[in-house]
Amino acid sequence: MNNLQVVIDSGHGGTDPGAVSSSGVREKDLTLMISQYMYDEFQKRGVPVTLVRSVDETVSPTERVNRILAAYGDNPNVVIISNHINAAGSATQGAEGAEVIYALRDDSRLASNILTSLGNAGQKMRKFYQRRLPSDTSKDYYFIHRNTGSNTHPVIVEYGFIDNPEDLAKIQNNYKEYVDAVVDAVIATAEGETISSMPGDGSYYVVKSGDSLWKIANMYGITVDELKRLNNLSSNNLSVGQILEIPSSFDDTSDTYTVKSGDSLWKIANMYGMTVSELKSLNGLTSDNLMVGQVLKVKGNVNSSNNTYTVKAGDSLWNIANRYGITVDELKRLNNLSSNVLMIGQVLNLP
Ligand SMILES: [Zn+2]
Repeated sequence: MNNLQVVIDSGHGGTDPGAVSSSGVREKDLTLMISQYMYDEFQKRGVPVTLVRSVDETVSPTERVNRILAAYGDNPNVVIISNHINAAGSATQGAEGAEVIYALRDDSRLASNILTSLGNAGQKMRKFYQRRLPSDTSKDYYFIHRNTGSNTHPVIVEYGFIDNPEDLAKIQNNYKEYVDAVVDAVIATAEGETISSMPGDGSYYVVKSGDSLWKIANMYGITVDELKRLNNLSSNNLSVGQILEIPSSFDDTSDTYTVKSGDSLWKIANMYGMTVSELKSLNGLTSDNLMVGQVLKVKGNVNSSNNTYTVKAGDSLWNIANRYGITVDELKRLNNLSSNVLMIGQVLNLP
């Protein structure tokens, strides 16, 4: 990315307000304000920049992609920044902080730098991650990643939560600092730099008493060597409170289950907290018949031996509670949680 070109996508617009706060603040207005300021900042820094939407207008996904690709083409110098404000829904009032979602075709450097930079600017870092389309896990979940060619670098930046009054106030008061942080991060990444972090949560793990590299690596489904390499560790010693970088997303679709005698789709689906139709679509099954020894892909976050759930990228208390037919409050009580923030790899008790 030596000849950086930037396309700024203001999320939503026109008939699509995006998320709306209880006080009536609309996501589409915030994303436009953020995007216009961002446009000016890139111009000041001498970076070629195009704004996908500069007024309050309805832009269909197809039209949005057309405008994005019309700006500088499907070329590897192009960074696409899609600005959004998150919403957690009424069940998780109080969620706060920024998230960055990057494409399956990209490595995590840009997303990591943007999130770290937002963290350094004072916003709480939640996580950076990739998200897969459930019906075809080889594809991105969001069209802004999936349909924007194969060379561009699209990122969705969620600055915070519109339905948390404190987070909303933070965004309204500090959006210029946050935008500057994103602009810095994009330029730094293009220059091959890594922004060093002030540790937060999400992509970091704080070493606790009794932890070992082996235990932590296991928790995230990586090898001890990978964990050491990621953190430039030369020894196996850890100290309590040490901050380790962890992989921002790990492939939860690679887990498999080998069919045993007496198994049924229903039993296996239940075991992994999936529906039978999810299990069938994940495996492209057209019938309900299983064969002993058949290998099935499973979601693999549920440990049926002790009835726990391992938090994966993109999870929220709300979607986990929903999946198990309980309320967020019940799930929090069951796990003695005082906040709504989850960490990837965190293990939750299930009813
Ligand atoms: Zn949005």
